[in-house]
Amino acid sequence: MKNLPELFGCKVFNDKVMKERLPRDIYRSLKSTLAGERLDPAIADTVAKAMGDWAVENGATHFTHWFQPMTGTTAEKHEGFIQRDGASGVIMEFSGKNLVSGEADASSFPSGGLRATFEARGYSAWDPTSYAFIKDDTLCIPTAFCSYRGESLDKKTPLLRSMEALSREALRILRLFGDTETSHVMAECGPEQEYFLIDKEAFEKRPDLVYCGRTLFGARPPKGQEMDDHYYGQIKPRVFSFMQDLDEELWKLGILAKTEHNEVAPAQHELAPIFGTANLATDHNQLTMEMMKKVAARHGLACLLHEKPFAGINGSGKHDNWSLSTDTGRNLLKPGKTPSQNAQFLLFLTAIIKAVDENQDLLRISVSSAGNDHRLGGNEAPPSIISIFVGDDLMALLEDIMAGAKPEDRPRTKLNIGASVLPEFPQDSTDRNRTSPFAFTGNKFEFRMPGSSDSIACPNMILNTIIAQTLSEFADELEKSKHFHEDLNELIHRTLIDHRRILFNGNNYSEEWVKEAEKRGLSRFDSTVDALAHYTDEKNAKMFDRLGVLSPAEIASRQEVLLENYSKTILIEALTMIDLTRKDIAPAVLNYESALLEERQRKALFPGTISTKLEDALLERIAALSELLSVRLSTLEADVVRAKEVEGSVAIAAFYRETVFSDMAELRAAVDELESTVSRKYWPFPTYAEILNSVK
Ligand code: ADP
Ligand code: MG
Repeated sequence: MKNLPELFGCKVFNDKVMKERLPRDIYRSLKSTLAGERLDPAIADTVAKAMGDWAVENGATHFTHWFQPMTGTTAEKHEGFIQRDGASGVIMEFSGKNLVSGEADASSFPSGGLRATFEARGYSAWDPTSYAFIKDDTLCIPTAFCSYRGESLDKKTPLLRSMEALSREALRILRLFGDTETSHVMAECGPEQEYFLIDKEAFEKRPDLVYCGRTLFGARPPKGQEMDDHYYGQIKPRVFSFMQDLDEELWKLGILAKTEHNEVAPAQHELAPIFGTANLATDHNQLTMEMMKKVAARHGLACLLHEKPFAGINGSGKHDNWSLSTDTGRNLLKPGKTPSQNAQFLLFLTAIIKAVDENQDLLRISVSSAGNDHRLGGNEAPPSIISIFVGDDLMALLEDIMAGAKPEDRPRTKLNIGASVLPEFPQDSTDRNRTSPFAFTGNKFEFRMPGSSDSIACPNMILNTIIAQTLSEFADELEKSKHFHEDLNELIHRTLIDHRRILFNGNNYSEEWVKEAEKRGLSRFDSTVDALAHYTDEKNAKMFDRLGVLSPAEIASRQEVLLENYSKTILIEALTMIDLTRKDIAPAVLNYESALLEERQRKALFPGTISTKLEDALLERIAALSELLSVRLSTLEADVVRAKEVEGSVAIAAFYRETVFSDMAELRAAVDELESTVSRKYWPFPTYAEILNSVK
């Protein structure tokens, strides 16, 4: 490996390269775009020339606008740099026009009804706030993707808009505290990515993993994660060499991969990068997931990013660490050193508490997917009830404020609105509660609900928007204030009391919490379908529109796409299940049964001498289970057909959830029983134990 500083970012058209290759005024103009100014179109040609030359020198032959359609993955359409040179040869050319915008046939991407078929064209527009990079000998230009009429068809556009809204509203608050220096506030995030790594051969023998990303069948292994011996355990040599290779690929792309370790489940691991702005972190996380799959294949491995590849074994999430910082480098979620910074911290904290309480539905929506439904509410992920953990120290302070205690009368903690010195909350006092869906961890919040395969664009877009909304309400009130400090204290006091129900420091996995949360009137959305129905609620539509993040039509389209995606996912799983049951599982059961019958017949030749008790018992069991299998398979098949008759995207998704998905669980139970009965020799698929221990 080359030395790391040299390797890092070698495939990225980053600041260092721009500075070297662009005339100084153009470089400055581009830099101001990165800091939030509008792009000056006049500089596009010069930037494109420098970018194209750099890419070609680094081996690129093609370029692509790289975008993130609502499927949650990334899309690219490669075009050669190659042009006729006017004689008989060719030149490599890349123009400002190529850089700034592109046209793509949008008809193959989901639009949720936004794109009429006669307007199939979609447009991609350069996002200069995320660096271009080279991947597969192709210059990739991060772009936003929208319809002919400018409605967003991707995940990036609303994220960028939400970052702008958040910056705008946060600045209003900072100005009230006399901050005249900050010109931009950024949402920053560091997503911790969990994944499974299994042997490629085992993977390929499981069509359910290949088609659906998760196992649709599989009896529990004799040894699962009961021993807790995998978490932070020794990394196996093959996994270690995968991690090394992955780190190197990510570093070349300028991705700050930093921490790699084993996770709780067998064969489960985690990668965490150093945090960055939400936009860049989102792009980088998409690239990280792509690289994980590619590098795994190179090592004869398969990387599983599904939220729940194995039933009964921990699933994978993506903890979204989120904070707010100024362009002057100050983290607004870090308690400050002066009384004023302190009060400001408490105001931001209060805004977040209010935002989370008022938008429990949106936060649940932001992490909704068929895959993540297996996790949320399961015993390893935060439940589908949102609450905030702030830790004991901060809770004591908030309690005091709510009780109306004056700063000097708050002996329980040193952190007071009027105190001159603030303690930094030690990580171990704030990070202990692993069961909370939304935990304050000293200088950031950790949103623990996102699923491992999800793009973090949506969770971040929602967080940014709901917090921009409460900040804007606070600013509206305080900007009118004649007695800032009194009114500020009163606002914090009142808001905390209004929203204290969302604060919960206890065990979120306990049954008592479910009851308690219900008493407190907190929402609970167990499934994606329950949650998604609320996306277009008036409260939400108004907020997104007012802050300029999503128009009502855009939200409706997103709701439609997500519901459709949910229904399609369940349908594909159901069809895969039917196919495997018919073509692999049933024949295996029948083969085993006939072997047993044969054996019994053979023994019957010696009546009274050799017992056939074992064969009898097994045959009886198999007969009973086969009948269940047959009945349940027919039910599933019939319901898949019935699903086609349901109308309306919410009703369709609800039918898949309530009927098809339950049928699948029933069928699975029968198959898993059979798996534990039928001889290993006849079973057509590798078992959980074999898959989970496939990497030596
Ligand atoms: P752990 O959760 O394993 O204890 P950390 O909490 O230190 O580890 O970091 C987890 C993730 O949070 C990392 O990706 C890290 O870069 C990110 N992170 C750290 N500080 C911030 C911050 N101020 N804003 C956003 N993300 C952050
Ligand atoms: Mg963490």
